[in-house]
Amino acid sequence: MKPLIVANWKMNPQTLKQAKGLFDLIKKGVKDIKAAEVVICPPFVYLSVLNNSSLKIGSQDCFWEEKGPYTGEISPAMLKDLGCQYVIVGHSERRKYYKETDEMTNKKLKSVLESDLIPILCIGETEEEREKGKIEEILKKQLSGALKNLSDSQIKGLIIAYEPVWAISKGDPYKSKYCDAEEAQKIKLVIRKFISELYNSSLSKTIRIIFGGSANSENAAVYIRDAGFEGLLVGGASLKAEEFIKLIKNSAAD
Ligand code: PEP
Repeated sequence: MKPLIVANWKMNPQTLKQAKGLFDLIKKGVKDIKAAEVVICPPFVYLSVLNNSSLKIGSQDCFWEEKGPYTGEISPAMLKDLGCQYVIVGHSERRKYYKETDEMTNKKLKSVLESDLIPILCIGETEEEREKGKIEEILKKQLSGALKNLSDSQIKGLIIAYEPVWAISKGDPYKSKYCDAEEAQKIKLVIRKFISELYNSSLSKTIRIIFGGSANSENAAVYIRDAGFEGLLVGGASLKAEEFIKLIKNSAAD
């Protein structure tokens, strides 16, 4: 299967002109790369302008209700209407700054699925949780909470991004702590095992597990080839066209 490379632009760039410029450069750079699937998740306000192209787009978040008195919120149905295909749910920055819980993530996941969009569920432990030896406990809690009451057919084709929170960059993926490929690979197996326990192993195999945390053009292949991830969620490195294109090329299947 082709690796899935998802750009999470977060709250960048600062103008529509810059967003269009970055998008166009990436579009041009990946035109001939057939061995990777690329998704760009820009801020909400740029989505409608970037949706008429060969590149797939996704959203960084959504609300769980379809419509109504929810000031500032955006529904999956609205995202679908704009041409989005993917929605990131449960990102650690949402959990940290907006106190999003596993219960909220679960509601969002259900709502995204009801709108026929593909959720990218983010899970991962903080540095403190890691130091206390709680990685598996945390991942299990996040997974069982987020996937609560989801049916077999809903779970099929889901994307899970394992993002150790302590390895997520502040913007520069060359100045951060890295998750060792061997450790990441072990955790990937643990995640797959948890899903097999919650559902079953053949269903678990339909779920793509991607990695996020300071991925860059130099380490991308390590996470894909050595650690066996089925793609990457990329923050900082997706904001520089040349670096991101190089990362995609280095991740692409031979
Ligand atoms: C992220 O926050 O999803 C992320 C992976 O960021 P970075 O690549 O900058 O660590």
